[in-house]
Amino acid sequence: GLDINWAVDWVRRSAEVVAEHRVELIRLDRDIGDGDHGENLDRGFEAVVPKLDDLAAGSTPGDVLKLVAMTLISTVGGAAGPLYGTAYLKAAASAGTDASLDGSAVARMLEAARDGIVSRGKAESGDKTMIDAWTPAVDAATEAAAAGADASAVLAAAAEAAASGAEATEPLVARKGRASYLGERSVGHRDPGAQSSALLLQAAADAAS
Ligand code: ADP
Ligand code: MG
Ligand code: MG
Repeated sequence: GLDINWAVDWVRRSAEVVAEHRVELIRLDRDIGDGDHGENLDRGFEAVVPKLDDLAAGSTPGDVLKLVAMTLISTVGGAAGPLYGTAYLKAAASAGTDASLDGSAVARMLEAARDGIVSRGKAESGDKTMIDAWTPAVDAATEAAAAGADASAVLAAAAEAAASGAEATEPLVARKGRASYLGERSVGHRDPGAQSSALLLQAAADAAS
């Protein structure tokens, strides 16, 4: 199962991948939003990393997820801050106080995160938001877990589905968030939040492999 070391590694890898893709995320958000998505997320994850050193001995994956949630809520801002903050908060609640998460627990954790984003932002599938990366990821994770996949394989399936889901936002018309102000003109551009979600889930899978 996935333990505290995985959770800490996921956060470090998330900060790295968001920094690496900062300019790409800014460009995507410039096309259909206000251009701050890469900046916002980079600021948030940069703020989390030093706090990892203060985790008490015996901390669990849930504690790490809660730390990420609190930090993103207070530093990211915009639409993505509260949405990701809620996702990590719900993921933390799902992980509970368990020291280790198996494949089914990981699938449930991803589902809780996705449901948190939906309850906060009210987006449906096909609205061209981060949900279009999360829902395929949850479906793939749930299916893999039901087939007996271990936690690492569940995350690999989720990451692959999220990447496809992010790509599949390109032909969609945005119906939520700033991009929805563009209507049909949002067609032909990938949703920045779907792309960042795919990157974060890939980081989770990489940390587990
Ligand atoms: P802002 O739009 O406030 O500048 P960001 O640029 O950080 O915030 O984040 C934009 C991303 O947030 C979008 O690409 C989209 O994926 C996501 N988003 C916006 N509104 C919603 C919503 N209601 N539900 C789900 N995701 C949303
Ligand atoms: Mg923006
Ligand atoms: Mg903004």
